[in-house]
Amino acid sequence: MGLFRRKTTQHLTHPWKITRKCLELIFESSKSNYPKEFGALLRVDRVDKNTIIEVVLLPGTISGDSHAIFYLHMLPIDYSVVGTVHSHPSSIARPSDADLDLFSHFGKIHIIVGVSAYGDVSWQAYDYAGRGVVIEVI
Ligand SMILES: [Zn+2]
Repeated sequence: MGLFRRKTTQHLTHPWKITRKCLELIFESSKSNYPKEFGALLRVDRVDKNTIIEVVLLPGTISGDSHAIFYLHMLPIDYSVVGTVHSHPSSIARPSDADLDLFSHFGKIHIIVGVSAYGDVSWQAYDYAGRGVVIEVI
């Protein structure tokens, strides 16, 4: 059957996915860090490289009142790490200038979680240039 393999969707524009379990962990971490920021790295599945399956906490990541700071020199050499996630206690899931600078230097996909004082969460993913990216929750 080698000649007639089913067509894959790999040629479509980078169909990012995230597991619901991973997303829920991100929301919980973002809420429990409120009013401070939560920051971590995003790791994909080793086989399905478009599916984010877990977050990696960086040693030395500071959860600040203003902004999570990523110590990129402490990054593990790990190609399954594709980007970052951090929360905005301002509840606005839009990248700041500092975020855009980070996005342009590291990673392919970045998630920002807006957390309100009432525990409501919103989220949006961005590419390296700060353009909105759709991620399918699976
Ligand atoms: Zn930010």
